Amino acid sequence: MNAKVWLVGAGPGDPELLTLKAVRALREADVVLIDDLVNVAVLEHCPTARIIPVGKRGGCRSTPQAFIHRLMLRYVRQGKCVVRLKGGDPCIFGRGGEEAQWLRQYGVEVELVNGITAGLAGATRCDIPLTLRGVARGVTLVTAHTQDDSQLNWQALAQGGTTLVVYMGVAKLGEIRDQLLAGGMAVNTPVAMIENASLPQQRECRSDLLGMEDEAHRFQLKSPAILVIGAVAAAEAQAVLERELPAMAAGQSA
Ligand code: SAH
Repeated sequence: MNAKVWLVGAGPGDPELLTLKAVRALREADVVLIDDLVNVAVLEHCPTARIIPVGKRGGCRSTPQAFIHRLMLRYVRQGKCVVRLKGGDPCIFGRGGEEAQWLRQYGVEVELVNGITAGLAGATRCDIPLTLRGVARGVTLVTAHTQDDSQLNWQALAQGGTTLVVYMGVAKLGEIRDQLLAGGMAVNTPVAMIENASLPQQRECRSDLLGMEDEAHRFQLKSPAILVIGAVAAAEAQAVLERELPAMAAGQSA
């Protein structure tokens, strides 16, 4: 009996970014519940499974979360192997944690499988090193969208010295800019905006903190997109490297 629920990250879109573990889960699946940011090309790994779309894009018709919970429970109680396939990583703005917890309270066996989250994939596909020695000592993933309108500590983000990767930010560019400026971030902080990361239709545009909203309008930036804010997002990552190389070399010889 292989009744269990796998909560699986399908990665950002490029089917080659699927993990081998995700492929194994798909091969074992009787039922696959699929989110709408998942590239359906990955379904080639589960040709006989029953596929149920449960997408819930912001602003569109959506499947209520409680319904998805009950659907997973129903199938696993029938002895089925259920794969819940999510875009990116299941635990990065993906409700993986709450779905696992909810299922476990009914004694269901649950296994979470990492996927490559959109923020990391988007940056890499644009040659942006999110951490770069001497430039950014860390990276912070945040969402601009909250259900309860709670506020991030933008001042801490503005002054933290880490690269910021913002999810679900396309409709909130003005607000993000204002909050970071008010928090003390420099107007000319480089920004990269990456749409459809890792897919053939990927597009990117570069700007700075002050100009990012206007630039996004000109570019007609659309969701899904991530923002990378920080020195590492300079139009020429190479320029950052070259500027920093002497310091790095000095560090190495010391
Ligand atoms: N669990 C997902 C994130 C889901 S939240 C992950 O780890 O990637 C949805 C947001 O993710 C979108 O609004 C967008 O900001 C981002 N996103 C997802 N797929 C994307 C892609 N291919 N390109 C750019 N951004 C993407």
